Amino acid sequence: MLVVLVGPPGSGKGTQAKFLRERFGIPQISTGDMFRAAKAAGTLDQRYLEIMDKGGLVPDQAAIDLIAKRIDADDCKPGFLLDGFPRTVPQAEALGELLAKRGRSLDRVVQLDVDRTLLEERLIHRRTDKGTGHIYHLIYNPPPPGAELEHRADDRPEAVGKRLDAYETMTAALLPYYDGKGLLRRVDGVGKPDEVTVRVLAALE
Ligand code: AMP
Repeated sequence: MLVVLVGPPGSGKGTQAKFLRERFGIPQISTGDMFRAAKAAGTLDQRYLEIMDKGGLVPDQAAIDLIAKRIDADDCKPGFLLDGFPRTVPQAEALGELLAKRGRSLDRVVQLDVDRTLLEERLIHRRTDKGTGHIYHLIYNPPPPGAELEHRADDRPEAVGKRLDAYETMTAALLPYYDGKGLLRRVDGVGKPDEVTVRVLAALE
């Protein structure tokens, strides 16, 4: 199973991807996680780090290079789930070529649809547990007392608007691109995570 999850920042892609990873036993590949891991390891190009923290998109080729290496790993043989890649039409075209060279193709592209006002509200209150990676919302899903929390630099209000703009101007163009290929399924991303999961599973059937 080769699936792409598309949705604006805060739409729940990561949460749904983690669930699908467990359910289908296929890896979740998140270029955002990969860039953050490189940042934490101190190996991320300084220019990309600044772009990321301000909420912009790093150059297409940097993301494509990461994916090209990752999809050849053994654990990707039964399939994989892309979360946060592709984010532009050139990335989608590059993905198509990478897969074609390997005799593979996408099965489905699932779009998580959430209104911008709700996204802003979700992102600004989002915190991640440093140890477990668990995601909390300070108001609706508050962390337990004493949890050691991380506030992503790009979840600060000044970067959130820029990330949502980047989605609307660059990534939303993927929707007609994949719709034209008959791969796109749209899912309402508003509701509790497990309610959204039911809709995502239906979209994958
Ligand atoms: P995410 O965790 O998916 O929201 O990604 C965090 C940040 O990493 C984004 O705001 C971008 O700066 C960068 N990033 C992640 N994936 C990509 C991609 N496919 N293309 C360009 N930039 C990306």
